[in-house]
Amino acid sequence: MTMASKADTTRDESGDEAESSIESESALETARRQLYQAADHLDIDPNVVERLKHPKKVHEVTIPIERDDGTVEVFTGYRAQHDSVRGPYKGGLRYHPHVTRDECVGLGMWMTWKCAVMDLPFGGAKGGIAVNPKDLSSDEKERLTRRFAQELRDAIGPNQDIPAPDMGTDPQTMAWLMDAYSMQEGETTPGVVTGKPPIVGGSKGREEAPGRSVAIITQLVCEYYDRELTDTTVAVQGYGSVGANAARLLDEWGATVVAISDVNGAMYDPEGIDTASVPSHDEEPEAVTTYADTVISNDELLTLDVDVLIPAALGNVITEENAEAIATDIVVEGANGPTTSTADSILAERDIAVIPDILANAGGVTVSYFEWLQDINRRSWSLERVNDELETEMQAAWQAVQTEFEHRDVTWRDAAYIVALTRIAEAHEARGLWP
Ligand code: GLU
Repeated sequence: MTMASKADTTRDESGDEAESSIESESALETARRQLYQAADHLDIDPNVVERLKHPKKVHEVTIPIERDDGTVEVFTGYRAQHDSVRGPYKGGLRYHPHVTRDECVGLGMWMTWKCAVMDLPFGGAKGGIAVNPKDLSSDEKERLTRRFAQELRDAIGPNQDIPAPDMGTDPQTMAWLMDAYSMQEGETTPGVVTGKPPIVGGSKGREEAPGRSVAIITQLVCEYYDRELTDTTVAVQGYGSVGANAARLLDEWGATVVAISDVNGAMYDPEGIDTASVPSHDEEPEAVTTYADTVISNDELLTLDVDVLIPAALGNVITEENAEAIATDIVVEGANGPTTSTADSILAERDIAVIPDILANAGGVTVSYFEWLQDINRRSWSLERVNDELETEMQAAWQAVQTEFEHRDVTWRDAAYIVALTRIAEAHEARGLWP
């Protein structure tokens, strides 16, 4: 696996460069394998596991748009709704050339687990359009988004399915979606999407939330292993809002951030980087190395001998090829799916703690939940309240995962899946199969 070439990168919801999975196992295969692995530890009805292997529904739509030159181009969009036993479907929409039906199903399953591990009253979904958003003008992106909203109109809604930003989409995309949906419904419906700009019902703190949860979880895991944050060295791959917010918060809380990176390479300083002085991707795209005295490659960053490694940019960066060379004690997954399954087994054998994405970056969907509550109650929260409640939710989820980790002597990833699957399976058993 090589790092994404510049041409192949796009912005994820947080501004990180990201590429979709290029490995033999697809997101769907990984999601299913993780489901069986967690189910193996639990005494749950196999019929529930059978149901969870499949999405409830997958919408596939054709999206014709008029390009700026007057020609019409046709794109394909998807919305995979995996499971809604605990509440409306929830999950991002990504604009990326590699978006496929199966990828949406797999990522939708991850959202089901992510919402359940956080104990949010949501199920899981994911969708997107197979398109390179860099090839579109802003007007074209707006037309694409509004037409997509129209095609999905019957499938989404504040009590049905609530999209959010993901790779290649951002708050502006959500504002267009919300507007298109609201105009058709004849009433302003902010709760139909989350991750909107605060002026139209977005939540304060939503954009920083995934990075903040990564930092909170890093602090909790350090505490668990009796490490003072002030004696902890950290390397962060990706300096979009996940990586930059996590790095800056950890720096502020006393950790020594020795490496940060973007698609061009990494800045390395064993004495510690002043993270506030390096612009994030949102502030100045791809600028990290221009501020660096010492530049190393992204591959070198991943194998640095640090206490905590935070991959926060790309999927599948810790692989079979480099897993033996990973020199950290703790990996906190900021990106979705940065560790391949083979690498995961190697790291487990080597006793490296891997705190999974479905817990570590779940601050995003958690603050999405706060946003949805604010929208349906027509009352916004202060940033302080958002951050306090996020901290409380992250601590509760951490506690639940820690209990399973200790109880069952499993990996942190299995422990998180066990927490999630237990809640989902109990809900399925309580509701039953009908009709
Ligand atoms: N796309 C984000 C994720 O992967 C957020 C989803 C949401 O807020 O609904 O967690």
